[in-house]
Amino acid sequence: MAEAVVDEHDGEIPDTMDGLVALPGVGRKTANVVLGNAFGKNVGVVVDTHVKRLAGRLGLTKETSPDRVEKDLMELVPQDDWTDLSHLLIFHGRAICDARKPRCEDCTLSDLCPSSRV
Ligand code: SF4
Repeated sequence: MAEAVVDEHDGEIPDTMDGLVALPGVGRKTANVVLGNAFGKNVGVVVDTHVKRLAGRLGLTKETSPDRVEKDLMELVPQDDWTDLSHLLIFHGRAICDARKPRCEDCTLSDLCPSSRV
């Protein structure tokens, strides 16, 4: 990947989705992380394991493939908030909505969440 950045981009990380996903080992998730956090560009929503799980539990999507989950989230949330949305879902997934033992009793979203156990 680093060789491709040096050889094809004069050592500069590309700041477009097409440029990033063309690099070896870089998929849409990583590209969204770089675009949102390094370049301040809301091109998409990062869908990692936390975002995928929480989007499903919160009823924001019925899809399971990351690309389709991302599309549903992009339709629901204003573009300016896409990078923050993924940060918030990842943080909430780590802190409260654990994959195996979601702490619904401590969750601020429990009144709204269709998967709440309380
Ligand atoms: S209520 Fe439970 S399942 Fe829903 S987001 Fe909160 S912790 Fe997760």
